[in-house]
Amino acid sequence: MVSKKRTDEEIKRVYQEGQRLFGENRVQDLLLKKDRLPADIQWHLIGTLQRNKVKYIAPFISMIQSVDDLPLWQEIHRQAIKANRVIPCLLQIKIAREESKEGFDREELHRQLAEGHWRQWNGVSVHGLMGMASLTPDQEQWRHEFRTLRTEFDYLRETHFKGPEFSVLSMGMSADYEIAIEEGANLVRIGSAVFAS
Ligand SMILES: *Cc1c(COP(=O)(O)O)cnc(C)c1O
Repeated sequence: MVSKKRTDEEIKRVYQEGQRLFGENRVQDLLLKKDRLPADIQWHLIGTLQRNKVKYIAPFISMIQSVDDLPLWQEIHRQAIKANRVIPCLLQIKIAREESKEGFDREELHRQLAEGHWRQWNGVSVHGLMGMASLTPDQEQWRHEFRTLRTEFDYLRETHFKGPEFSVLSMGMSADYEIAIEEGANLVRIGSAVFAS
């Protein structure tokens, strides 16, 4: 469940229905909510992460879904080692048309993976990929972009991430999760569709 911008009361209501996995897109909000809400919640970071903020979440974060460049990946590794843990992460891939959307460019990622520096960063365990489709009403465009991410996921699993932990394909939000699931998502990030009801 994506709990960004939701009050503690809203989150507690969903928590009481059994939900334990929540995603936030800002470190500041996440830290405040974590202190106020039950300790058995698993927090995922789903938004842009600045390198200098990794240290605040490294001790407890369940997963960082938004690793979008190499320096961030390395910093997560460093802070994970300091915190004496391994942090599950997803690589965020740019599939949308908008310039503004974050994520690795696929060709550049392939080049960087081939260089291999990341292989030493054992504080990070890469569990899969995350992507966001374009802001468009065009459902076929969404489908095309999700399919691109699925293809990328299969490719990386065959080439660089052969371990069983590489298993998560996070795509789909309230508007487009049905198409995302049809195209192979096994983690969806739903906010407004749950909290609005
Ligand atoms: C806000 C957000 C979502 C959820 O969006 P809804 O439309 O509220 O379901 C999913 N992923 C990311 C990265 C977000 O920032």
